[in-house]
Amino acid sequence: MIGLERRDVKYLTGVGPARAALLESELHIRSLEDLLWYFPYKYIDRSHLFRIREIDGEMPYIQLQGHIISFEEVGTGARRRLIARFTDGTGVVDLVWFKGIKFILGRYRPNVEYVAFGKPTVFGGRVNIAHPDLDPLEKLDIQSMGMQPYYNTTDKMKRAGLNSRAVEKIMQNLFGLLTEQVEETLPDWLVRQERLMALDNALRSVHFPGSADEMRRAQYRLKFEELFYVQLNILRYTYDRQKRYRGFVFNRVGECFNIFYREHLPFCLTEAQKRVIREIRDDVCSGHQMNRLLQGDVGSGKTMVALMGMLLALDNGYQACMMAPTEILSEQHFANVLNYLDGMNIRVELLTGSIKGKKRESIMEGLASGEVKILISTHAVLEENVRFCRLGFVVIDEQHRFGVAQRARLWSKNSNPPHILVMTATPIPRTLAMTLYGDLDVSVIDELPPGRKPVKTLHYYDTRHSDLYAFVENQLQSGRQAYFVYPLIDESAKVDLKNLEEGFGIISERFSQYGVGKVHGRMKQGDKDTAMMSFKKGDSRIMVATTVIEVGVDVPNASVMVIENAERFGLSQLHQLRGRVGRGADQSFCILVTGFKLSEDTRRRIDIMVKTCDGFEIAEADLKLRGPGDLEGTQQSGMAFDLKLANLARDGALIGKVRDIARQIIEKDPLLSADENVMMSRKLAKLKKTPYDWSSIS
Ligand code: ADP
Ligand code: MG
Repeated sequence: MIGLERRDVKYLTGVGPARAALLESELHIRSLEDLLWYFPYKYIDRSHLFRIREIDGEMPYIQLQGHIISFEEVGTGARRRLIARFTDGTGVVDLVWFKGIKFILGRYRPNVEYVAFGKPTVFGGRVNIAHPDLDPLEKLDIQSMGMQPYYNTTDKMKRAGLNSRAVEKIMQNLFGLLTEQVEETLPDWLVRQERLMALDNALRSVHFPGSADEMRRAQYRLKFEELFYVQLNILRYTYDRQKRYRGFVFNRVGECFNIFYREHLPFCLTEAQKRVIREIRDDVCSGHQMNRLLQGDVGSGKTMVALMGMLLALDNGYQACMMAPTEILSEQHFANVLNYLDGMNIRVELLTGSIKGKKRESIMEGLASGEVKILISTHAVLEENVRFCRLGFVVIDEQHRFGVAQRARLWSKNSNPPHILVMTATPIPRTLAMTLYGDLDVSVIDELPPGRKPVKTLHYYDTRHSDLYAFVENQLQSGRQAYFVYPLIDESAKVDLKNLEEGFGIISERFSQYGVGKVHGRMKQGDKDTAMMSFKKGDSRIMVATTVIEVGVDVPNASVMVIENAERFGLSQLHQLRGRVGRGADQSFCILVTGFKLSEDTRRRIDIMVKTCDGFEIAEADLKLRGPGDLEGTQQSGMAFDLKLANLARDGALIGKVRDIARQIIEKDPLLSADENVMMSRKLAKLKKTPYDWSSIS
């Protein structure tokens, strides 16, 4: 039998050229193999019969057994319909048809036992089932019907009669054709060790399970396989990359690091910071290129860790660079780093898009000659003409704003790729990190510097603005500062800007004696800076802003964060914003202001924010609420998200398990050339090529 992947679905009974074209254009199904791996998205247990008195309008598809009492045609024109009163002795439902009335009348008769199947709805106090499937009882064997598969189909397919039922028929034809077993894609020992269903079985069962239990076992096997190969792929490439590129070796801990540590460090490092610095040191000494993801909640002190890493590079004769996603942030990093390194005679420069002319030339020269030791930058550093003498260490702050392609460009800045430390304050749940950034090692700062009080989060409806203002005033009177943030998702949306301007008007009037500033993305850079500086210095005590201030801005005296229209922000954004306060020793507050009517999702988001300040807990919740595809950063991450069955939010334990197994295999046989492993190597080669080369991703 020739391989299923080479057999066109067109020649399968029930398909033909027209349907084949639809299958391809709508679902990318071209071969019999593609079809075989097109799984149902749900099942309905058809071995169970409901009683009419049990049903309500909330139920999914159900099945009833009974007979038709009478037919009645009602309405005219487009509203014409046929109603059959159907009873099983416990009650009556209306079966309704809007089309094919003649056909129905000719086919079904009163007082014959039928099984009706469909989705009940309640309309005008009566239970209805529109366009049910109706089969004579004597023709069905209810007990053996089991789970009926449901396949996703598009509107275009449905219009051509290619609905779920039709796909099911085609699938039956496919299985009728499969005389040989589908070849196993996991090694025998693994199937046995994990007590998995064999692939052939699993494929049959996933389409036509005999029971819910069988369906679950089949799905488990297929999920296992899916996740296993994702992990195997990542780990193999990581291995490959480590072999291909030698990392710069930083084996000296010298003056820069030591003098800074002994004489300039303004505070004691937290244990978590120390641990991460050790992890970085181990990496940069290892001879491998470091690719490390540093996760730490806002305010956990990632910058200091990054700085210590950069100093190690300097001690070994290399340059270092730190990239931030916005100019404001890079300026702030620049100011902080200058401040930390004051008196150390290390040339640090800032390069952004708005630095031009002579200044820019001088920086470029300094970079090329090696005089500039540390460069703080935005993505301006990625431009071709920015050349380093010996770039050895790169820090990327707030990683999710940098696309994969941009990160990859860093690699060309030196003969060998520099060590890369990616920092993010949006904690990525472990399972997601393992899949999205599976080739990065992960460090976590799970401890805040001492003396921080968790931010208290309150929820106000927008009808209570006067209470809210009184609260803010109270804080201002005791010397604190406050933010008011308005959503400006799309910087060009006029409505949003109007909200902010109106808010600014009201707030400036109400708090005129305190000084009210404003920043948003459409202001000129100079004006933004002036406003931020004035707030930082405490000249203005209130800052009305958009999410421009979301990342990084550090004003320890600010103790109130008011988020207007909080329903319009995602969880991770809310958490980031909240991280702007709570940086000093005083109790800080975050106030989420929303309208009265909230969707269930929004209410849950608000509840989580009020309940916890733990970034990881919030990230997990976010993943569950939104699903991984929507999580910030996943689009840019480059990972093709076509997991069919596995779910990164729900299958965390399984991901951890398959990763361990994959790691053991790669450690023993990195090229997968051992006899028992070649099948895995073949399967990997067959997997669709990911859109980029994993090996060149930082
Ligand atoms: P983030 O992780 O959000 O980037 P930062 O590096 O900006 O955090 O640090 C937040 C604040 O905490 C800064 O003002 C920094 O100087 C301070 N900080 C960092 N580490 C410590 C520490 N170990 N002890 C006290 N303060 C610290
Ligand atoms: Mg930071």
